[in-house]
Parts: sequence; C-alpha cells; structure tokens
Amino acid sequence: MKLDTPVQYLRGVGPKLAGRFARLGVQTVGQLLAHYPRRYIDYTHPYPLAEAPFDVDCVVSAEVYSKSGPTRLAGGRTMHRVLAGDGSCPLSITWFNNPYATARLTVGERYFFEGRVGGSLTRREMVNPLQRTPAEVKARPLVAVYPQTEGLGSGQIARAVAAALDGLDEPLPETLPPALLARYKLPGRMQAVRAIHCPASAEEAQAARRRLVFEELLCLQLGLLLLRGARRRAAGAPMRPVPLELFWASLPFAPTGAQRRAAAEITAAMAGQTPMNRLLQGDVGSGKTLVAAAGIYMAAQNGYQSALMAPTEILARQHAETLQTLLGPFGVRVALLTGGMRAAARRAAYAAIAAGEADLVVGTHAVITSAVQFARLGLAVVDEQHRFGVRQRGLLAGKAGAPHLLVMSATPIPRTLGLLLYGDLDISILDELPPGRKPVRTRAVPGEKRRDMYGFLEKQIAAGHRVYVVCPRVGQDGEEPPGPEDAGAVNAVKSYYKDTACALLPGRRVGLLHGRMKAAEKQAVMRDFKAGALDVLVATTVIEVGVDVPEATVMVIENAERYGLSALHQLRGRVGRGAAGSWCFLVSDHPGEGVKERLRFLCSTADGFEIAKYDLEHRGPGDFFGERQHGLPTLRLANLVADTRALEQAQRTAQTLLQADPQLKKPEHAALAGEVEALFERAAALN
Ligand code: ADP
Ligand code: MG
Repeated sequence: MKLDTPVQYLRGVGPKLAGRFARLGVQTVGQLLAHYPRRYIDYTHPYPLAEAPFDVDCVVSAEVYSKSGPTRLAGGRTMHRVLAGDGSCPLSITWFNNPYATARLTVGERYFFEGRVGGSLTRREMVNPLQRTPAEVKARPLVAVYPQTEGLGSGQIARAVAAALDGLDEPLPETLPPALLARYKLPGRMQAVRAIHCPASAEEAQAARRRLVFEELLCLQLGLLLLRGARRRAAGAPMRPVPLELFWASLPFAPTGAQRRAAAEITAAMAGQTPMNRLLQGDVGSGKTLVAAAGIYMAAQNGYQSALMAPTEILARQHAETLQTLLGPFGVRVALLTGGMRAAARRAAYAAIAAGEADLVVGTHAVITSAVQFARLGLAVVDEQHRFGVRQRGLLAGKAGAPHLLVMSATPIPRTLGLLLYGDLDISILDELPPGRKPVRTRAVPGEKRRDMYGFLEKQIAAGHRVYVVCPRVGQDGEEPPGPEDAGAVNAVKSYYKDTACALLPGRRVGLLHGRMKAAEKQAVMRDFKAGALDVLVATTVIEVGVDVPEATVMVIENAERYGLSALHQLRGRVGRGAAGSWCFLVSDHPGEGVKERLRFLCSTADGFEIAKYDLEHRGPGDFFGERQHGLPTLRLANLVADTRALEQAQRTAQTLLQADPQLKKPEHAALAGEVEALFERAAALN
C-alpha cells in the first residue's frame, strides 16, 4: 500500500465509508495519516469514582460486582445493567441496545470506563460508556479522538489509521535533515506520525506533535521566503526619489505624522535596488488610501504605471474616484477595470493600459487576468489584502517583470507575529487616526429593542444624517470573502428591507444593496446614498470594506453574533468619518453569555489591536489567521499563537537552509521541497 492509495482499499473501509472520509478531505492513505487527532482520552490516570467530575467526559476504573438484564423496554429497546465500584463509591452502569457490552465483562474483574458520570455523590451512574480492559489500556494508554463527520466516528477513523500504518509498504520519507533532528531533539517522521495517532505515553504524543508542528511551520517559512527570493532576484522597477512636498501641499488637509512616515518608508523602498514587498497596516479610517496615492504619485513621476486591486467592485469604483481627485491635478490618468464592465469599455481600457495611456489602473480581480498587458507597470497596490491570497498577490506582482508591491490591510496583527507570519513582507504601520475623529458610540441591542432603535434612527435622519443597516449573508460567517450570495441570503435581506426597514421608517428613502444585483444597479444605489438621495442603505456585507461616505453616522449590524470582532470593528469603521457624533448598534437575539460578552467588549473599546487580540484569544487563530483572511496556507497542527517559539525556530532554520541551498534544489532537500509545494498548492486550491 502506498501513500496515494485510495482509502477505500484499506481493511474495513469500503466505497461507502470512503465517501464519508472524502467529506473530511481524506481521499488517500497519505491524507488519512495527516488527519491528526484533536485530543486524546488518557486512560493512565482514572478518577476515583467519588472524585469524578459531573457531566464531563472522564475515565474511571471500577470492579464489576454484578450484571443484570436484558430488560425489554417499550419500542423494542433492551437495557443491560451492571453494578460496579472502586471502594470509594458504587457505580451503576446502564447500556441501551448493546448486549455485547455486558457480555464482555466478567464479574470480579476491573475495567476502565469512559463517558459522563452522573448520579449522586454516594451512587455514581454512567450510561453507554466506552469500556476497556487493563490489558488494552496497557497496550494503548492514550486513545486518539479525531475530527469526525456524520456516519464516521472517531473509533472508525482510528481503525482505518491503524490499518494504514500496518499496511504501508515503506516508511514515510524523512523531510528533515538529520542534523536538524539532532539539534532540536525531534523524532523522525515515520515515528512521529505513528506516535501522534497511537502514542505509548503523553510524552511521546507531545514529542510527535512538536516534530510535526516544527515541520509544518518550517514549510510555511520556506515557502514564504522562496516567494520573496524569487522576487528579490528580479530587477524590479528602479525609480529615482521624488520629494512629496508638492503632493502633500495639494491636499485639503495635512497628512498625519504616521502617513508621512509610512509614505517616506514606501518611497525609499521604491527607490531601492530590489522590488519593494511591503505591508501597510492601519486601523480602519487611518487613511491608507492617501499613502498609496503617494506611492502612485512617485511611480507616475518616474514614468511608471501603477495598478490598484480592490476586493469589491464598489470599492474599486470609489478608489478610482478618490485617486482621480487626488492625482488628476498631477496629470495621472486613471482607468477603471471591473468584471461587471461592458465588453467594449473593457477593451478600450485594455488598449489604454497596453499603450501606456493609463497611468493608474484601478480594479477588481479583473486586473490580474492575462488579457491585461501593462506598458510599464512599476507599482502594484493590493487593498484589504486579507481578501486575496498569496497566489493572487503573486500574480499581480508577477505581471510585467517585478513591480514594487504594496499590500494594505486593516486587520491588525500583533507586531512580532506579523513579522513572523509575513516572512515575505516588510511592514509599515499607520498608528494614528486623522485629527477630529470622535469615537463611534457602540451599543448592543437585543431584538425586542429594535423598534426603539428605529425610533432613534428616525431622529438621526430628521437631523440630516445617513444610516447603514447590514444584514449578514445567511448561514455564513461575516468574514467570508465576497462571492456570489446565495438565493436564501438575498431573500432574507430583501424581506428585512421591506418588512423591517421600510415598514419602520415610513416616508424615509431606503435603498437596498446586495451581491446579486447588476453592477450598474449597485453603482446607482451607492451613488444615491453618497449623494444623499437615500437616507438608509440596507446591505449585505458587500459594503464591509473601505466604503467612504462621511455623512453616514449610524451603522446598524443585524445578527451581530455572526461576525468576528475584527469584522464588526471594520464595519463600525464605515461611520465616524465626518464631524458629527456617530453610532454603531450591534443587534443580536443570541442568548449565549459568550456572545453577549464579546459584543460588550466591542462596545467598550475602539482599539483595533485590543480587538484583534480578543478575537485571537477567544475565537482562536483558526478564525483569525485562516487562509481565507490572509492568503496563508491552512495549518493542520500548528497554532500560530501558542507555538510562537517553534515559529521562531522554524524561521531561523528556514533562513539557514536557504543560505546553503537558495532554491531548495539539492537532492537531500527534495522531500522537504515536496512538502513545501504541497502546503502551498493546498492554499492555492482554496483561494
Ligand atoms: P482606510 O485606512 O480605512 O482605508 P481611508 O483611506 O478610506 O481609510 O481614509 C478615511 C477617510 O479619512 C477618508 O475620507 C480620507 O479622505 C480621510 N483622510 C485621510 N487622511 C486624512 C488626513 N490626514 N486628515 C483628514 N482626513 C483624512
Ligand atoms: Mg481603505
């Protein structure tokens, strides 16, 4: 049996189970071996019965005193009972429809039982526990618990894994050089994979995990550094430095100190010998667009074209307008390129770009299609980069040689982590908001107070302010990348628009915006809202990122519990841009204490870094660093928050390895290079 053998051919797995494995992303033996357990049940420290905690899964050990049953119950069910105990306390166990469980038990013998313990302190009870003999526990003291799916339990997965480990023709190829294994005291690959599935002890499981985490993080760092190296070897777009004073002087306001600093870092990098590779990170409303404009200004002064890629059509349009206003006076010609454009307009844009008659191209994904040929691309800017993957970033940067690359993001990452994560990017930070911003007053609103809230909205509108109402895409998380919205979601937002917003605001002008509308319709609605022809905009999260309407002062978010705090913070950033005081209402009917606490936390702070930290600690890095947000490969095992030490070691190791073998081409690194490729291919497939 080989690593690419389909799981269907494993002992005990047929086509039916193979179909269920496929739902877990497991099709081959190799993928099965990389389906790691989530945790272990530890049989080595059973609880004394008197001390077993109530209503959580735990392991106890008890001697069987007597057996009874079967008792027939209504509906054809049977019941078997066992009385057991450990001297500290008696234990009564009941099994339903499982005659084999008691048949396997011998009176007078000791067994281990795993499950929830209930009953009273003087007589404990368990229902349908798992049971194991001391010999079984001795052979396998820790039992792996796997991520499971309907019709495929952890036990079945464990049996398939055991069959795979038994049936392998040859051991897994070692990916780490022997010197590394020795240096970090790591077990070999085959040993680690065997041990993570069937550990002989908690220590062995721990060592196995350490090795596999290290390998995963090393592959991540190697991949990022290889991407960066490929760009470093390119000549780039050399530019002479351009003073920004004329540009700053042309603005209706003074740039913030942070904007000046970031722009200086960017223009210095663009005047360097190698292509710039930089992340511009700043909270919502910190004025990232202006910093990008400074870079575009410098490129244009050097006779180079720039491209700016935005995640949504609305945002692309808005950027095109803003940048036209900022840079038009300096002779910069702006072209817009979006998927929704008519073919003739698109062809005209292509021609202008190829002829060098457009100095700045602003668009959506349309900018990276192969039909777009730049005459002389010098700077590529990617806005709200968590919406684009590493691959798309690479595609844009790969156009026309190696232009400078500026990636902008509002999702703050603790700095040290950012440096490690974006192994391929330098970082500039905007840590200052433009002056005069008033914090957005944020309140959590239970559903039964919705009418009162609409009363408040009515007053705000009467005072000349505008309101956003955001409804989530049904059944999806707010941080999903924008994509076609499903029909159910569109119906939900339509009925909210009609039955709630329009009904509760009679006589007010309410607009509707969702992902299924035609580009021209969306544009018209957005234009009306900006111009003040609409008082209220009911929208799905298509407006989530970057939209700038200074007169909007109220943001209402329905089903607020569906979003991560960072996403809510971004949405909240849509208001509070003008001089008037502004509000954000988080509407939720969710009864969970955790949800309420999360929303209360957001009400209490406006600090994007604090919010990101809270999200990280409470929702976990899966949500925060998922490949969806950052374009990074999904890690199977490593936890970027908990495993920082391993991340640092992996980064140092990756640098050392690449110094000796810059493209990872030496034969002794072939297995490792294969793993790196596999990790990034998986990411590309998801993006
Ligand atoms: P973000 O960082 O969220 O992308 P934007 O670039 O959209 O922020 O800027 C938010 C708003 O702040 C815009 O209306 C912009 O014109 C305004 N702005 C940016 N810089 C300044 C500044 N230095 N002073 C005053 N307003 C500014
Ligand atoms: Mg922005």
